[in-house]
Amino acid sequence: MPTIRVDLPERGYDVVVGTGSLQRFDRYLHRLADQGRLFVVFDARVYALHGRRLMDHWGSFHPVELTIPVSEKRKTLREVEAIIGFLLEHEVNRKDAVLAVGGGVLSDMVGFAAASVLRGVRWGIVSTTLLGMVDAAIGGKTGVNHLRGKNLIGAFWQPRAVLCDLDFLSTLSERELVAGLGEIIKYAGLMGGETFATLARLLDMGDLLSGCRLTRLVAEAVQFKADIVASDEREGGLRMILNYGHTFGHAIEAVTGYRRLRHGEAVMLGMLAANEMGCLLMPAWRAGLEPHSALIRQILPMVPKTRLDSRQLVDAMALDKKRDLRVGRFVLIRALGEPIIVDSPPDEVIIEACERMIATYQALGA
Ligand code: NAD
Repeated sequence: MPTIRVDLPERGYDVVVGTGSLQRFDRYLHRLADQGRLFVVFDARVYALHGRRLMDHWGSFHPVELTIPVSEKRKTLREVEAIIGFLLEHEVNRKDAVLAVGGGVLSDMVGFAAASVLRGVRWGIVSTTLLGMVDAAIGGKTGVNHLRGKNLIGAFWQPRAVLCDLDFLSTLSERELVAGLGEIIKYAGLMGGETFATLARLLDMGDLLSGCRLTRLVAEAVQFKADIVASDEREGGLRMILNYGHTFGHAIEAVTGYRRLRHGEAVMLGMLAANEMGCLLMPAWRAGLEPHSALIRQILPMVPKTRLDSRQLVDAMALDKKRDLRVGRFVLIRALGEPIIVDSPPDEVIIEACERMIATYQALGA
């Protein structure tokens, strides 16, 4: 069972990946809580399903617990203020630590609360969703949404330790699993090779949670992201490639009001559009891109159908903070394992890529 290092100078930390790994994580909790108290903030749904077992296991830490209802709509400054209020009421001090137990929404909020209260207290994450494990829990981006857009307020604040125990996934809905798979499909496109082959075999098997393939894929995704974060913590260059499919994906989330599609579902559609853009710009890339697009098409019957309009998507993209407004920047792959950044593609190409993606989605979506 792997332990993966996010190797940052002074802020490096371990990510424990596996099944049945709670015990293995205890030594990290001892380190987190060695000088002060441990505050544990739970996603309410996760608490209902796993809370008692976890609190029994962590009894010797005498944690102070808080449970909050979680949804993308509630990922706001107001909720973070409530978390901070709870910590202050309990006279949190800088020797204390906070542990987030939940998916990406919860860890983004708890991380931001930890970054802000007393100008920063130590924190850790027990990630309980597939998307959280392979993406949100790694790399120290924390924050909340604003009326003007997603994740517009936040801070870089690295956790001290992360647990990705796949046992939590047994209670996750199929839809959330598929959304997490969206990000794994992203890594498979960026990495190619064995990772892509393992994912293809897992999808052919049909049962995501059986066997150890998913654990292996999570570990490979975490390792890939950890290496990128270690070389570009603040997204000045290389980390940008993790936004493959996200310029389209964020626009899809925006035009559907952040409600109809999960983030990972939108990213899947976004990568399909990005691959179409690649084919339009460079027809010779089609053969290299086809295996990746085929994998996405294989998943689409599990993604609920909703109406999309290419003009609306282009308008939404203009507002995406990830898009450099001067040049219009897209992360594509030109073949498996070969990311490439494209600046200023012609508008007709963006629109046609959207149209082709929408046609495939409407034909195959659930
Ligand atoms: P989420 O946190 O909303 O969790 C999805 C749903 O699953 C929720 O209803 C939650 O209550 C429930 N849940 C969580 N764990 C469960 C379990 N084990 N069993 C049953 N139900 C469970 O969504 P998510 O997909 O984990 O995260 C999405 C968020 O992550 C978005 O807000 C996105 O912006 C953010 N994100 C952040 C980063 C980053 O680098 N910080 C990267 C990617 C995504």
